[in-house]
Parts: sequence; C-alpha cells; structure tokens
Amino acid sequence: MSNTNELSKNNWIVVIQGGVRLYVDDDGKKFFENVITNSVNFVKFEEEIFRGSSVMYIVKPERLEEGDNIRRGMWRCKEKGHWNDKGVTKCVGCYW
Ligand SMILES: [Zn+2]
Repeated sequence: MSNTNELSKNNWIVVIQGGVRLYVDDDGKKFFENVITNSVNFVKFEEEIFRGSSVMYIVKPERLEEGDNIRRGMWRCKEKGHWNDKGVTKCVGCYW
C-alpha cells in the first residue's frame, strides 16, 4: 500500500478531552459528527469507550499542526505563510 493511500485513510483528527487524538477516515468523521450533533452519551470506537461529551472537535491534521507550532513558539510569515522557528527574525522561506 502506498503512502498516499495511508494518508487518505487518515483524513481527520478527532480530539478527545485531555488531548487524546484519534485518526479517522471520512466514515469515522461521520460517526463522530453524529456523536457531537446528537449529543450521544457514550461512544464505543475500536473497542474503546468515550463519553460523548468528551469529544471536543474534528479537524484536519493541518489545523493541529498549526496549534502545535504555535505552542513551540514558532511564527508564520504574513506574506506566504511559512513557518519559522522561535528567535528567527526574517522569514527563512521568503529570504532564501
Ligand atoms: Zn515567508
């Protein structure tokens, strides 16, 4: 199986209270979407049990990557959106 196929299976990340991340495909997304929109009490997903109200959000992996980078102190240039390390003053992507 190619990497592309692997990636297409992990299109979404479901974040559970406490920061647990579940990698799901489109079917998984629909499943958790239903949990959130219909206030389902308990969820059983791949043998694990969650309280429905502990499902916080369903996002694209890039969204979490953005949050992780900000926590690391990284910043994004306004021109092209490149990520730069903390302490770097000129955008590495734009000035190289
Ligand atoms: Zn830049």
